[in-house]
Amino acid sequence: MPSPTSPLRRVAILAVGQELLGTDRLDTNSLWITERLEEWGLLLHEKQVCGDDQADIEDRLADLLARHDLVLVTGGLGPTADDRTKESAAALLGRGLIRDEAIVASLKERFRRRGYEMPEINLKQADLVEGAVVLRNSRGTAPGFLIEAGEKVLILMPGVPVEMQSMMVEEVRPRLAPRVPSDGIVRRTVRVASLPESAVEAKVKPVYQKWPGVTFTILAAPGDIVLRFTAPGPASSAMVLLDSIERDFRESIGDAVYGRDDDSLESVVVGLLRSRGESLAAAESCSGGLLSKRITDVPGASRVFLGSLITYSNESKVRDATVPAEELEAHGAVSREVALSLARGARARFGSTYALSVTGIAGPDGGSDQKPVGTVHIALASPRGERHIEFSLPSDRAMIRSYSATIALDLLRKELLRLDLSRERPDRSGQEGM
Ligand code: ATP
Ligand code: MG
Repeated sequence: MPSPTSPLRRVAILAVGQELLGTDRLDTNSLWITERLEEWGLLLHEKQVCGDDQADIEDRLADLLARHDLVLVTGGLGPTADDRTKESAAALLGRGLIRDEAIVASLKERFRRRGYEMPEINLKQADLVEGAVVLRNSRGTAPGFLIEAGEKVLILMPGVPVEMQSMMVEEVRPRLAPRVPSDGIVRRTVRVASLPESAVEAKVKPVYQKWPGVTFTILAAPGDIVLRFTAPGPASSAMVLLDSIERDFRESIGDAVYGRDDDSLESVVVGLLRSRGESLAAAESCSGGLLSKRITDVPGASRVFLGSLITYSNESKVRDATVPAEELEAHGAVSREVALSLARGARARFGSTYALSVTGIAGPDGGSDQKPVGTVHIALASPRGERHIEFSLPSDRAMIRSYSATIALDLLRKELLRLDLSRERPDRSGQEGM
């Protein structure tokens, strides 16, 4: 029987695993899979999470297969008794499970090489679903399966993220390629810093209206907004469309657009510093190293980032960043003067081109009428002078800290781009829409 060739238009994911129903494991596999599918031109319509119970898995599979062309499953392919995905799919589709002696031999060999006898339970991993294409697992022992049921395709993959990921790329992608709709979808992301969501919404509304038929989503984190748009059509023409839309976005939002797709504020800043052969240091108080963490998340940051002082106490501000004690006395640790001194001190200490500082009240305690929780001062020392920003974000501790790091990175980005800082400076109105 020849394989079906009809395009796979409706796609669903099922994440199997009791632990995913609890509070300490997140189904991140489906996010990763969705991203790959979109790259390949397939749009996800639905996803579900279920536990390890065989009747539940069969029920979910029946439900999803009834309404979708392609169903991708992760988890429950392992050797233990609670791994029931393969058994569920076989039972639902009326297929047998056939033990493959070649796999038995290779499993035994794999264990032998590591100096173990293969436990009996691992034999289960040599059971293949009748009539299925076996998907090689280059990172583990449980094979995956591609099962054609009429026009529909069911794919079973392990739950371990690295195993699933390599299987998707090496085994699943080439097999699905012939059935990806040629009129697929193409996606792009534009990233915006330091503007409130409502301000971005207002600026981009005319762009939405100009391009009907394009799906737009806006995803807001404090100080960091993601505009995502998805265009239908063959990649070549859709790309031209996405380029035009991106141009419109950049025109309406201006310099607050810091990047696209996989860019992050920190990767853009590190890239700018590298291209100029310049360096950075920091002095962090309320952000406690978060800014430095974000910068050092970027591969290659070592070429530009010289180091950081975590000046959490007043003593450390004086001793390590040479903030004058009188200044702390007169203005308090959370002040313009101290922020500037911290930046200056870090720049001198490390001999860097630039230094950023963050000092603020992350709460929940420590606020006052004059300086409520969420008051943060950020400063930048550079060869061209000093910059300072003050803002107040009435939010929780985690958000205040992360917003502070974002605003500091954006201050440096704008300095590096020699932008007019007075124009788009986040201030108290920056709270709106956070
Ligand atoms: P293996 O065949 O390698 O034993 P498996 O198919 O049995 O894998 P599970 O036992 O369900 O997979 O999960 C193995 C690991 O992968 C666990 O740590 C689990 O938390 C993680 N995992 C499973 N499903 C997901 C998911 N949807 N997202 C993120 N992690 C997951
Ligand atoms: Mg399992």
